[in-house]
Amino acid sequence: MSNIREVPETLIIRPPSEYRSLLVRLTRGCKWNRCRFCGLYPHLGQATFSTRTVPEVKHDIDLLKERHPRAENVFFGDADPLQIGLEAFMEIAQYLRQVLPVKRLTAYARTSTLWKLKKHGILHLAQAGLNRVHIGLESGDAQTLNFHRKGQSPRMVKEATSWLREAGIEVSFYVLLGLGGRDHWQRHILETASLINETEPDFLRLRRLWLYKGDTVFGGPESPLFQEIRAGTFIPQTPEGTVLELRLLLEKLDSKLATFVACDHQNNYVNVSGRVKDDKEEMLAAIDEFLALPEKDRAAHYEAVGSRI
Ligand code: SF4
Repeated sequence: MSNIREVPETLIIRPPSEYRSLLVRLTRGCKWNRCRFCGLYPHLGQATFSTRTVPEVKHDIDLLKERHPRAENVFFGDADPLQIGLEAFMEIAQYLRQVLPVKRLTAYARTSTLWKLKKHGILHLAQAGLNRVHIGLESGDAQTLNFHRKGQSPRMVKEATSWLREAGIEVSFYVLLGLGGRDHWQRHILETASLINETEPDFLRLRRLWLYKGDTVFGGPESPLFQEIRAGTFIPQTPEGTVLELRLLLEKLDSKLATFVACDHQNNYVNVSGRVKDDKEEMLAAIDEFLALPEKDRAAHYEAVGSRI
């Protein structure tokens, strides 16, 4: 019996903005898997990490090509597909562009992996046709990053981002509202705004910290952060606190930034979007309008949005 797959492997998670992209799996799960606020891959059933072989991935691309011969946008996953190795990544990206009319190739990437590639490695990624990376910045605050075991520092983010920009690869940052908890939210937000002002990413995508228990439909373990919450070392932010975080972040962003802001996740309490240099005041006004609602209406809204992946 043949071992050759007749359907391509699917990804566990993809960015919402890649909903129309072909999804190609280079790695399974997250090799790092230590961030306290995350634990998502184990929770969603992918507790271990592995890399796929180049022939396996090329075979998936052939299968995808049969179904979507005119695909122009492609996304590589899972959490850090560069773990497959630079040469393998390049071979796959080049093959993809040979067989499909790809205009945009994007991937998740951990800052530390990009940072280890250094400037010349990132240049190779651009030459292989990578157009954009989705990076979990989470916070620009060194203490918050350390507490959550993110495995990256603001300095690494700044260096990796500058190499990406020089190589012409777009940068999409994800920031987690609530990550500083109730005690450190201002530091988390102020340092994050400062790092964004310095690095000028192409996109800033906002999320709210999701604290999931072990009883969701996915059946995996609870969020690792619950250990800290029970120990009293992390006090979760209030719903309204995350809205105030969003407001402070936007307020502190440099009004000349060309960065596009998107609250493109359904767990955000207030959804604003726009380019900072053009739409900052409008976005702040929308948040203020929400905050001016009667308290019972705001509470009902927080309840209705709830928490979701
Ligand atoms: S946030 Fe990213 S790097 Fe951290 S454990 Fe989750 S998937 Fe892995």
